[in-house]
Amino acid sequence: MDRKKQEITVGFVSLGCPKNVVDSERMLAEIVQAGFTITNETDNADVVVVNTCGFIAPAEAESLEAIRHAVDCKLSGAVKKVVVAGCLSERLGTELRKKIDGIDAVIGLSQRDNIAKIIENIFSSGPTGRGGGSCPNQPLPPISDRVPDDRCRLLITPQHWAYLRISEGCNHRCSFCTIPAIRGRFRSKPIELVLAEAQELVSAGVVELNVIAQDTTSYGRDLKIKNGLTALLKEFENIAGLAWLRLMYLYPTGIDSELIETIANSEKIVRYLDVPLQHVNDKILKSMRRPDTKDKLQRLIEDLRLAMPDIVLRTTLIVGFPGETDRQFEELMDFVGWARFDALGCFKFYPESGTSAAELPGQVPDEVKQQRLDELMGAQQKIAFAQNKDRIASTLNCLVDSVDPKGLGRGRYYGQAPDIDSVCIIKHCSAKPGQFIATKVVGTQDYDLLVKQI
Ligand code: SF4
Repeated sequence: MDRKKQEITVGFVSLGCPKNVVDSERMLAEIVQAGFTITNETDNADVVVVNTCGFIAPAEAESLEAIRHAVDCKLSGAVKKVVVAGCLSERLGTELRKKIDGIDAVIGLSQRDNIAKIIENIFSSGPTGRGGGSCPNQPLPPISDRVPDDRCRLLITPQHWAYLRISEGCNHRCSFCTIPAIRGRFRSKPIELVLAEAQELVSAGVVELNVIAQDTTSYGRDLKIKNGLTALLKEFENIAGLAWLRLMYLYPTGIDSELIETIANSEKIVRYLDVPLQHVNDKILKSMRRPDTKDKLQRLIEDLRLAMPDIVLRTTLIVGFPGETDRQFEELMDFVGWARFDALGCFKFYPESGTSAAELPGQVPDEVKQQRLDELMGAQQKIAFAQNKDRIASTLNCLVDSVDPKGLGRGRYYGQAPDIDSVCIIKHCSAKPGQFIATKVVGTQDYDLLVKQI
């Protein structure tokens, strides 16, 4: 490599879910540690890394568009090398090179920590891909069985909150899901490693940790830790400086009375749970290969609210799963009306190749899926808006996320997860990002709350 490393600029495009954010943050740290210079100008950098997502068709389309854009910048001469990483790399492998000519390196999930070396190598080699020679066509290494060590990251989230991944992969076999094929079998990080990472983040100024995994409730099963998630959560109570611990992606059947009690008694775990239900009709759940039933899901919500009347619940649902009838969809609508979730994400079913649900009979036409999605989200909007109105005049402890030069702040109370939920808009905010402030709700603006500092 002729040029000095610090003269080589690297632009980074991070797509997809929080798990990918953590991988991006690890790669960025490796790139900086190796001496390269990170730039925000992703259209005009020596190297552009696109960390892709590929779990459903729209995510794949977004990733392909970002890669094509980077390759076009390379053709115009503004970018010299294009590296593609992440879930779509893992899913498509060398196929990706055939889809888009001009990629210099496709790297698999297990090569994440080698990113700097890979950049170094492609920079030392001659021109590759469109506008140059042809891309090397090596297959990706197999999915690693290792637990990723996510310590030492360059956070792309604001410096006061971070994601904390506690495990990788998934052993469930939901019939619609590509994740186990992409991310491999379930493996937990040892408790000591999770805590060391949490401590590292808190020491760097993080006050809110958002616990993520493909399925957080399975934590510790592979390590033979009894009630693993509960055992892990209790350890966080001793981390001084950590104010909020938030649990995302809980598999419903994994939530037992001990876990509920632990959350209810915790000083740090916020009373917010993200529990993806996917559906509630028993026949559809069975076809999805999920062990829940509508009765069990109903009881779970009742138990959570009984133990913690102030719990805020988010869920994710799929509409238009193969065979879903109007009646089954109505059952889902009735459940949403009954459960009154505080937040809800809804996906249309996508028949992803390699999943058994893609082969099921009774595929639902796209226009019907879209109608159902619109109907469901319309009903949920009414619920969310009504719940927001009920909060007017209440006081909330808000974590300030940002403040613009005019003093307009954005923050969140415990019931708002970062990057996915609504926010609190704070007029005349005198606090700094990362500070907690007492506020009173004075109004609403769509899904957001308008609050004033008190
Ligand atoms: S639990 Fe989640 S990640 Fe695992 S197979 Fe089911 S949907 Fe996919």
